[in-house]
Amino acid sequence: MPAVSRPLPPLTALAPPELEWRADDIGDAPYSSVHEDVYFSRHDGRAETMHVFLEGNRLPERFAAWQKARPFVIGETGFGTGLNMLCAWTCFERHAPAQARLHLVSTEKYPLPRDALARALAIWPDLAAHVRPLIDQWPEPLSGVHRLWLSERVTLDLHFGDAAERLTRLDGRVDAWFLDGFSPAKNPDMWQPALYEAMATVSRPGATFATFTCAGVVKRGLRDAGFTWRKTPGFGRKREMLCGEIAEPPHDTRRAATPWFTPPEASTARHVVVIGAGLAGTSVADALARRGVAVTLLERDAPGAGASGNRQGALYVKLAAETNPQSRVYLAGLLHTRRWLTALDPEQRLWQDSGVLQLAPGTKEAARQQRFLAHHALPERVVHGVDAATASQAAGTPLDASGLDYPQAGWVRPDRLCRQLAASPGITQRRGEARDLDFDADAWRIALTDGATLTADHVVVATAHETPRFAPLAGLPLKPIRGQLTHVPVPADAPSLARVVCAGGYVAPAMEGVLSLGATFAPGDTDTAVHTTDHARNLDEFTATLPAFAEALRAAGVTLDPAACEGRASLRAASPDKSPYAGPVPVREAWLDDYAVLGSDARRIPNTPGRHHPGLWVSAAHGSRGLASAPLCAEVIASRLCDEPLPLERELVDHLHPGRRLIADIIRGNATLSA
Ligand code: SAM
Repeated sequence: MPAVSRPLPPLTALAPPELEWRADDIGDAPYSSVHEDVYFSRHDGRAETMHVFLEGNRLPERFAAWQKARPFVIGETGFGTGLNMLCAWTCFERHAPAQARLHLVSTEKYPLPRDALARALAIWPDLAAHVRPLIDQWPEPLSGVHRLWLSERVTLDLHFGDAAERLTRLDGRVDAWFLDGFSPAKNPDMWQPALYEAMATVSRPGATFATFTCAGVVKRGLRDAGFTWRKTPGFGRKREMLCGEIAEPPHDTRRAATPWFTPPEASTARHVVVIGAGLAGTSVADALARRGVAVTLLERDAPGAGASGNRQGALYVKLAAETNPQSRVYLAGLLHTRRWLTALDPEQRLWQDSGVLQLAPGTKEAARQQRFLAHHALPERVVHGVDAATASQAAGTPLDASGLDYPQAGWVRPDRLCRQLAASPGITQRRGEARDLDFDADAWRIALTDGATLTADHVVVATAHETPRFAPLAGLPLKPIRGQLTHVPVPADAPSLARVVCAGGYVAPAMEGVLSLGATFAPGDTDTAVHTTDHARNLDEFTATLPAFAEALRAAGVTLDPAACEGRASLRAASPDKSPYAGPVPVREAWLDDYAVLGSDARRIPNTPGRHHPGLWVSAAHGSRGLASAPLCAEVIASRLCDEPLPLERELVDHLHPGRRLIADIIRGNATLSA
């Protein structure tokens, strides 16, 4: 039976495992008191991993022979301490060719707390260098997908939640499975037919598996899902274990209800032109270059010339009171950006994890925040409610409103970030303005206003509200939004904020003697001149939100006079539903034709995959939350383009699809050829 999707489960904090620590042959080892089972062999956990999972999947020889441009993908049920994946990584380093890449996908329903993880892995001091990035980037126990960068060549996606449920949502394919988890007798809930069916659906043809158990229920489940198996000698005192493969995975029927979102067939990317060097473009260029793809980054002005060129910006999100796909994407994006920045800039030269306070200055917003808290049991370290006294303490200034505190959020220097990303190895920067995009034979030709033409097999358009000026993107709904920031010079001894504080706009802690506040929000306004009236608006909002802080600044000699302020105005772009666009570009005429029937009967879903412009991608509509959305969208595009697992659940990848509005219009009978 094929795997079927169900609605996404609630966004929630996962409970930690109940652990005992037992002094075993190998040292201080964790033991699950609920499942009454060990995490790894008490005699030699590493040798067991090597025997069962690595040799059971023939990884040393398969790694040595790996020549493909895409990464080798390992899937696992039960990340536990990560020992299996760490061993796979060291084995990969030992055997794989220098240009090969490894992608690890692991599920975990009861994530270990960070200190327990560190304690368990301390058994193997020679793994310390590999353990470090895992511990540094270890996510909070929030259900969902968390991408970690273990090294330049090795990526780990942690899918927190139940293994079967997580794997039905996996957008990616697996080459080898580590079928781990406590023993079927102790943990029968995991070893269910739905798990093997989900594994089969996301397997590559010929994918292998290995597991320590020979239980009949496992053998039957694997066989019924399409795997063949054989018994081989087990590790240590265990007589037997299982390994096997699936020659032909079942047809993936998960797209039956939404065939339009079927991704384009993977094709090798040799040269990609990215148009636009704001945060959307530079992060996608960097994500591709890190995968070894040659990138030309085309920009009319300079990196960060548009809305991404602010000297300081808040890394924050505003989540809906009831979970919806948009909130899931933004929360995933916020945590993703934070991990990405931690890996990119551990010294925090480009950002700071000051935390962000979202105040509720009025009763309406306070009620909304209370509804949010009632609906979401999220980890404290991700977001929690604070009363006015706690908020005041966190911000370092008296506040008279309650709010939501996001300790992992903070602020970023977007202008510097864009410049640094644009200068990454593997990226060629080209100054120029794209006029036209045209696909001819098997390549894109990008005509520039200076008369030159660039060619590429893939193009990523990241030009904010200007994106629809290119013919294949003409129908993409995007609206410009003017936003002006106000810069207030403050002396070094002036009182300072400890957190970014936002209500309508935001105020960040002063950076290099300047306080940034704003921004204004003017949909449809394309004026980029700086106006004193907008400074006045920002200052009014600031003094209304933080009256005591404003007073303290005045007392320290700071003039909050609009006429004396400097600032910066730029245009952001938003989609009608306020979510970003990240993905392949639909062929509008083809969708209108292929799905016309839906206009009269939305249940008659044609069995036709969505047709897309070959090799054309877009990252846009990041609005004023681009710091939280653009890096994750960059990974979505780069992962798809390079045929790798995606860093989000399938449903959320679909939510970002640039064709979502078009298909909704077709179903409502509103779509026309000219948009
Ligand atoms: N592979 C691990 C390692 O290298 O340390 C050891 C795995 S440990 C024996 C089993 C793991 O499976 C535990 O971390 C447990 O929390 C996890 N687990 C148990 N039931 C699960 C389920 N239904 N979905 C996902 N993970 C599960």
